[in-house]
Amino acid sequence: MAETVTCVRCGQTRESAGRVLPPPFGDEIARSVCSVCWAEWLQQQIRVINHYGLRPALKEDREKLYDITREYFGLPQESAKKS
Ligand SMILES: [Zn+2]
Repeated sequence: MAETVTCVRCGQTRESAGRVLPPPFGDEIARSVCSVCWAEWLQQQIRVINHYGLRPALKEDREKLYDITREYFGLPQESAKKS
């Protein structure tokens, strides 16, 4: 059986999104976000990538996408260095 988390977005205790991204951010997602909200984010993410013209293969764009992901889930921003 998959691990359960109390999701930061919906507040419900559900199955974890699991290891969907590389660590360390992936670990944070795995213990903070449920699989339902992650699936919703994946739909939203497509629009975000198109909107900003992001190329997730590039480190810089990937970091921007992670920042937007944090914002979406209300996770603390890691990169306070950028302003
Ligand atoms: Zn959730």
